[in-house]
Amino acid sequence: MRLLSTRTSGISISFSEAVLHNTPGDGGLFMPEVWDPLPDMEELLALPWQARNAVLLERMLGDEFSRPDLEAMAQEVFDFPVPLVCVGESVFALELFHGPTLAFKDFGARFLAAVLARIGGGPRTVLTATSGDTGAAVASAFWQRPGFRVVILYPEGRVSPLQERQIACMGDNVEALAVQGSFDDCQRLAKSCFQDAALASRLGLTSANSINIARLVAQVLYYFEAIAQLRAFGENAMPLFAVPSGNFGNLCAGLLAKRLGMRADFLAATNDNRTVPDHLDTGKYLPRPSVATLSNAMDVGDPSNWERILHFFSHDLEALRSALQWGCLDDQATLAALRELHQLGYTADPHGGVAYGRLRRHRQADQPGVFLATAHPAKFREVLEARLSWTVELPPALADLLRKPLHSRRLPADLDALKAVLEGPG
Ligand SMILES: *Cc1c(COP(=O)(O)O)cnc(C)c1O
Repeated sequence: MRLLSTRTSGISISFSEAVLHNTPGDGGLFMPEVWDPLPDMEELLALPWQARNAVLLERMLGDEFSRPDLEAMAQEVFDFPVPLVCVGESVFALELFHGPTLAFKDFGARFLAAVLARIGGGPRTVLTATSGDTGAAVASAFWQRPGFRVVILYPEGRVSPLQERQIACMGDNVEALAVQGSFDDCQRLAKSCFQDAALASRLGLTSANSINIARLVAQVLYYFEAIAQLRAFGENAMPLFAVPSGNFGNLCAGLLAKRLGMRADFLAATNDNRTVPDHLDTGKYLPRPSVATLSNAMDVGDPSNWERILHFFSHDLEALRSALQWGCLDDQATLAALRELHQLGYTADPHGGVAYGRLRRHRQADQPGVFLATAHPAKFREVLEARLSWTVELPPALADLLRKPLHSRRLPADLDALKAVLEGPG
């Protein structure tokens, strides 16, 4: 797979290089060059999950990794199920939360760890700033991996107790730093470290953030799985996928799957952070500060992957409008959607609720609809309890975590303090 920049023409680099560099350095993002549709879609859909993933990975990355390597990666990374659950007539939830940290960020983080381990190139320090789910997934994916030291910056007091436990209870090679500041402070600190070229090369500094191309490659795979499972339900018509979107990586992966020949329609569903729906409605892209909602992993006011999607459509807004449906849902409507699902016998988390709430407005009666359930409801049980008086039981793995001690260190929001930690023994 060759990748180009969304900004500078003429850049063309390998997948491994793109994973290591993270961004092209011109302010843009890496995007795969044109892909041809797969000629043998039916055969691929007939394969089981991990076997199909190995084949799809080979089609995408076979020029850089051997077949046995890709098979081993598919085994190691995707060792949890992706159930498609029927919640009503021709309406389904694609449950992406059966990985170790119970949110779909596990797909990208685990695949990134597997790829970096095979790229090799000496000890690495993985530095990441998080507002919650990404940090948990990265901590879990790199935990006890030889050759990796992981440093996670999170805003003290501003992640949920469960998320903090997921980040800060791992120990060993995973260091959690509770920064006395906001998520923006965490991001600024991480960015400054990457800009210090001497420090970056001395430590083998590596980013694990949400714009890494490895993450998108991993997320392409579960769209095919959804189609395969729809077939098993006897649903052969082209489905509509409702994607709960914040930074728009998940939707971007779906569009890549479509480019590989998968037949599907897409619906971009946001919460009250409506920068993208407004762009599609008005033709103007106006980034703005994020507003806090119940689906907080989607509270993004200037989504970075939107640039990838625009590039994908050659910045032709009309083409994009005819390829996509879109809409937002405020917190009240999200709660109503969650109640409606509950009456159907299904408990979703607020992110899945946003997707479902929009799906039921857009789906035609004869079209199968799939909403992406991106987090386990237990991850957001405080919200479900406070706003809907539901009690959601914690899965055993999470219940155990709550009993473990935290290993986090407090850190002032100060670059020198962070550098001192990074240069220290770990
Ligand atoms: C990150 C996240 C999203 C948003 O995904 P994007 O790829 O950023 O659009 C949705 N739901 C949950 C639970 C998340 O953690």
